[in-house]
Amino acid sequence: MIETMNDNIETKQKVDFTAIEKKWQKKWEDAKVFEVNEDKKKKKYYALEMYPYPSASGLHIGHTFNYTICDIYSRFKRMSGFNVLYPMGYDSFGLPAENAAIKANSHPKVFTDAAISNFIKQQKSLGLSYDWTRKLQSHDPNYYMWNQFFFLQFLKRGLAYRKKSSVNFCSKCNTVLANEQVHQGKCWRHTDTDVEIRHLEQWFLKTTNYADELLDKAKELDWPNRIKAMQENWIGKSYGTEILFELLSNRERNCVIVHGSNDSEKEALKGKPENLRHWKPWLQKSLEKKGIKASNDLYPKDWAPDYLAWKKVFEKNKVDENTTLVGHSAGCSFILRWLSENKKKVDKVVFVAPSIYKSEKYKKLRFKDFEYDTSLKQYFNELTIIYSDTDDEDIIRSSKEIHFKIDGSLVMLKGKGHFTYEDMGSEEFPELLNSILNGEKWPIFTTRPDTIFGVTFMVVSAQHPKLMELVTKGQKKEVEAFLKKIKSTSEKDSTELEKEGAFTGSYAINPINGDKVPVYTGNFVVADYGSGMVMAVPAHDQRDFEFAKKYKIPIKLVVKPEDYEINSDKMARAFAGEGVLINSSDFNGRPSKEAVDEISNFLERKKLGKKVVQYKLRDWLLSRQRYWGTPIPVIYCDKCGIVPVPEKELPVLLPDKVKFGEGNPLATSKEFVETKCPQCAGKARRETDTMDTFFDSSWYYLRFTDPQNKKEPFDKKKTAYWMPVDFYIGGAEHATMHLIYARFFTKVLRDLGYLKFDEPFKKLFNQGMVHGEDGVVMSKSRGNVIDPLDISSKYGADTLRLFIVSMASPDKDSIWSNTGIESMLRFVNKMYTQLSDVKFGKSSEKIEHKVNKTIKEVTSHIENLEYNIAIIKIRALFDSMEKEMSKGDLQGVVKIIAPFCPHIAEEIWSKLGNREFISIADWPVADEKKINEKFDLADKAIEKSVSDILNVLKIVKEKQGKDAGKVYLYVLPNELENYDSAVLGRRVGKNVQVFAVNDKKKYDPEGKSGKAKPGKPGIYLE
Ligand SMILES: [Zn+2]
Ligand SMILES: [Zn+2]
Repeated sequence: MIETMNDNIETKQKVDFTAIEKKWQKKWEDAKVFEVNEDKKKKKYYALEMYPYPSASGLHIGHTFNYTICDIYSRFKRMSGFNVLYPMGYDSFGLPAENAAIKANSHPKVFTDAAISNFIKQQKSLGLSYDWTRKLQSHDPNYYMWNQFFFLQFLKRGLAYRKKSSVNFCSKCNTVLANEQVHQGKCWRHTDTDVEIRHLEQWFLKTTNYADELLDKAKELDWPNRIKAMQENWIGKSYGTEILFELLSNRERNCVIVHGSNDSEKEALKGKPENLRHWKPWLQKSLEKKGIKASNDLYPKDWAPDYLAWKKVFEKNKVDENTTLVGHSAGCSFILRWLSENKKKVDKVVFVAPSIYKSEKYKKLRFKDFEYDTSLKQYFNELTIIYSDTDDEDIIRSSKEIHFKIDGSLVMLKGKGHFTYEDMGSEEFPELLNSILNGEKWPIFTTRPDTIFGVTFMVVSAQHPKLMELVTKGQKKEVEAFLKKIKSTSEKDSTELEKEGAFTGSYAINPINGDKVPVYTGNFVVADYGSGMVMAVPAHDQRDFEFAKKYKIPIKLVVKPEDYEINSDKMARAFAGEGVLINSSDFNGRPSKEAVDEISNFLERKKLGKKVVQYKLRDWLLSRQRYWGTPIPVIYCDKCGIVPVPEKELPVLLPDKVKFGEGNPLATSKEFVETKCPQCAGKARRETDTMDTFFDSSWYYLRFTDPQNKKEPFDKKKTAYWMPVDFYIGGAEHATMHLIYARFFTKVLRDLGYLKFDEPFKKLFNQGMVHGEDGVVMSKSRGNVIDPLDISSKYGADTLRLFIVSMASPDKDSIWSNTGIESMLRFVNKMYTQLSDVKFGKSSEKIEHKVNKTIKEVTSHIENLEYNIAIIKIRALFDSMEKEMSKGDLQGVVKIIAPFCPHIAEEIWSKLGNREFISIADWPVADEKKINEKFDLADKAIEKSVSDILNVLKIVKEKQGKDAGKVYLYVLPNELENYDSAVLGRRVGKNVQVFAVNDKKKYDPEGKSGKAKPGKPGIYLE
């Protein structure tokens, strides 16, 4: 049986590929074949895979696919004469290692180091051509010290700053949780514990400074269009109007003012009229005008205050969640002590010139003898500390200490002394009044100011730090129940959620018509987009419409479509289109498109709003309250505030000995936390937040150009030689975060003078996904996972490499096939055998044509990342290989398979007597003169006939119910040389005989030779 002979020979791995692979991997390593240096004479090429996280489970099939694609490209470029930088490193910090360590009661470093060495072993077994001398790992202090160095540069230029932000908090773990650690609103470790939203000071990087450039430059990149579109959407630039809405809070607020003390009885407040000339009475009156009850009591013996005596007076006031406490000087000290002891929740706390130190001067102030609770911030919504640069040093120190130990915002007012009437020259203190009243006017961003007359409610984000200030007593239960239900809503899922919310009890005033509209809180508004509150126009916005329907809020039509009538009572969905304004006072009849500008201008003239550009892009939240990351190099000193760690003291090492499982692990290391202030040498504490691991992956590609540098992050000259990355490959899931952050980083470093280019990655390529045999994403639970290492140990790495890129175009998803890999092994065996068996001699014209044409085509297919098509061409070449060939042609064939199957290519190459590695041999150039299309005509004739024969066979079988055994073909005499009966026989699986129509000895019982036409032989079956 001719047709199956070929297959039968090669069903087994008759060559020991594993031994060949090991041999060449060692030779490459010993000869440092893939190590590179800057070489001005050669053109550089930088190929890179996205920085992998070394997961404990090792390489999966997706990695294998990704790395094989890039390795083939690197090998191809190397052979094509480029100086190829192809490095590998590990994004080794991060949550999974820390979680695993907590679960197994081990250490993240132990996990990580083991995972990396396993990864390296597996990568080496695939024959990937990395320059291993450049290996990086984020958790190496030699790497992360440069993270710290860059952070300090960012800080110097105001690109790093601290701001309050909402975080997930588990009260049982006593720590902040990452979004991944929150499962359905509960802690990942404590399934009975609801995750709370808390508002903590966090470090941010100013990515928004570069929003416009990130947007504009993306257009020029050689990146997949969908990735560029995703970046554009992520940055989300929109032009709109910011409109000021006044909020009427219905809750009953009150304010308690606590005055300070005096040096002596002579200066007692009581009875001295000049002491009444103070901001306190003024504040009391001003607040009462706004409907806020305010008390301004006189406390006993203010020259020698007694805590308990003051307490009695203080507690006559109502103090609850709607109370603002205002302290002046020693009065602040009283408030601190009272809150520490009573742990009662209040609304706001404002300290003016706080005095909390016991000094000689104030030795009578006995009630300062206490330790205040530094976790007080959970007992108020807002803390403001106001001090002046011309006050006593003790007061300035007190202000800073409270700010750093507790929290709050620190406000410095110039030249106000101790805020007495004498120092201020006035009783009026508008800054203080504003800080008590602040938040009463909200800037609301909208892209549809033309619909402002249709506002029937407002929605404030459920995560907004000021939400509870808007909630009235009567609505508190309802709002809290709602908050409990929704927990953390990120922007991504907020569009798909059912719109839900609760009424806060407060109202807002629409500035254009004075309408009083209710303020709801809702799950579809993001806290840090705009001001975290939106104006809702249910008639013309679908989200608002759904919400209004659910909560029975009126719907007011203000834009009428031009060609049909709609009725607000019968609308089934919002009308978001353009039309003509109605119910809009002076703007009635205006086309809505023009009204956008007209209403914006009107509001701007009235100082009720302004035109603004708004971005969806936020500043990058860098802080992580976790252990396994780069320590943020900052020290907190009570005297000096935030002090950067001096550059010469870097790295700030991550301590090994910490406790996991409760609180922030870093905070459990006394040796780490307790330190000296670099400025005043006093006692200070280290920042315990670590950096988001996206910081590590934002510049690793630069470090690869100079990975061992101990003096600077990289040598600018080396980076200038290698960068930018020419070919960057990774999953499309990194379309936004990583690729935005890395681009941002490049731009900042350019502006700091480190780099001379704008974009880090010239060409981006997203590989497809490899699915299981059932066509579904591989997953353990489905049991359809293919382990690349099982495959390579069974079939050899070359077979795996060749197969994985043959299934589909590398950018498309593909489906694994076990019969496919078997068949690929047969092909690899066939290649190996055929190449080994060739006798040196003279190539036939036909094989010369085949070899040169294949070289030409494969070169262009690899260049265009059409590996699957290149492999089809290579397979076709082996189908018509001949027993005798010239050495040159044979070497050409070995070279074009080298990027795909580097091990067997090296083996055969060396058998051919070559001493150099094929991995660095020159890529073959096709000799166009040897390409003769007539040979292709013959191939085409065969293809056509095969398909005709198979068709006829099928018809005959259907008609007669049995298979034909023999096939006779009658061809025109001048076409005879195009038809090789052996090849035809193999292809159709039958015995085939070919006759020229004029052959007198032909077998032709039914005269089918008469049917032969040019290019279409007659067929007879028997
Ligand atoms: Zn927990
Ligand atoms: Zn200091």
